[in-house]
Amino acid sequence: MTMQSMIEIDHVSKRYGNFTALDDISLTIGKGEFFSLLGPSGCGKTTLLRMIGGFDEPSAGIIRIGAKPMTGIPANLRPTNMVFQSYAIFPHLNVNQNIAYGLKRQRLGKAEEMRKVREALEQVDLHGLGERMGNQLSGGQRQRVALARALVLQPSVLLLDEPLSALDKKLREQMQVELRRLQKAVGITFVLVTHDQYEALAMSDRIAVMFGGKVAQVAAPQEIYQHPATRKVADFLGGMNFLTARNVKFSGGEIAAEAPGIGTVMCKLPKANGIDQDNAVFGIRPERLRIVWEANEPAQIEAIVTDRSYFGDVTHLSIKVAGQEQDLEVVEANNFGADDLPLGAKVRLAFDPGAFVVMAAR
Ligand code: ADP
Ligand code: MG
Repeated sequence: MTMQSMIEIDHVSKRYGNFTALDDISLTIGKGEFFSLLGPSGCGKTTLLRMIGGFDEPSAGIIRIGAKPMTGIPANLRPTNMVFQSYAIFPHLNVNQNIAYGLKRQRLGKAEEMRKVREALEQVDLHGLGERMGNQLSGGQRQRVALARALVLQPSVLLLDEPLSALDKKLREQMQVELRRLQKAVGITFVLVTHDQYEALAMSDRIAVMFGGKVAQVAAPQEIYQHPATRKVADFLGGMNFLTARNVKFSGGEIAAEAPGIGTVMCKLPKANGIDQDNAVFGIRPERLRIVWEANEPAQIEAIVTDRSYFGDVTHLSIKVAGQEQDLEVVEANNFGADDLPLGAKVRLAFDPGAFVVMAAR
């Protein structure tokens, strides 16, 4: 991938007293990229975002934006703008005034200011609402105003700290699509902080997964979901069946093992992943296991249903496979009667041999 870099985070650490919030982080974020920082609460996402935005300084390391070191440069002099988790817009100002607020310093003149405000309103799909007061807006509309207010300043980088977390599910999903479209339209680099793996997968060009102040993996959504580097990354990004396996063998660029009740599991070895004989963990995602309904169709696994949860579109099944220490999870679309399978039912399952994943046990 050729990528022009916009933000370089170069061996950055942050300590609060003797607590290390960020531990030697290095990352490059590309120009025009939609980049997400994903991880559980407290892993240091906001801390890193605030340091990019100039609201806090690293204890060690350097942040560069557009190749320029940002050390000592305050937030208002950086080419960044931040949309905060609690998007405080002024309730006593109308939408136009809220958006124009940050433009006042530029002394553009009334006509040019209004042109920019209208353009920003169009971008966030709020045209016609310019006269509405801040306290007469819904949560989703307030969030759009906060976005417009950040965009109108034409920053090179927009920083977004869990901007959708206060919205209900339906609206959040709609805003995810819109934010993504908006980012592609304006071409600004977006850095999004989220603890929601689906949000990160749906919106990002690349994702950095963080735990305890460290970056565990940086990759595009499909890569990170299908080839998680570690057990912890796999576990955080959706369901994963970790398999009982033995006789781990390397040959060429591949790694193989015997999984009782399943057979030979073979995976391509990812490059530079620190996987060895002792720490290799094998897995398969629940949706990659498929129930075989036809008696004459071949299957690779025989199992007993031990649990069942109905989700409308899909059913989640737990199945017991002889030789596997843990029950496996299976996600089945509700087409052929997975939702009617009784506990104790015998099922046969198939999988694509390419669906197995090897991870480091970290
Ligand atoms: P996240 O955004 O991933 O939930 P944060 O970046 O807010 O996490 O916080 C990371 C860790 O740093 C947390 O343990 C938090 O308590 C700690 N932390 C953040 N800010 C400060 C501060 N000003 N003083 C002391 N500890 C802090
Ligand atoms: Mg946070």
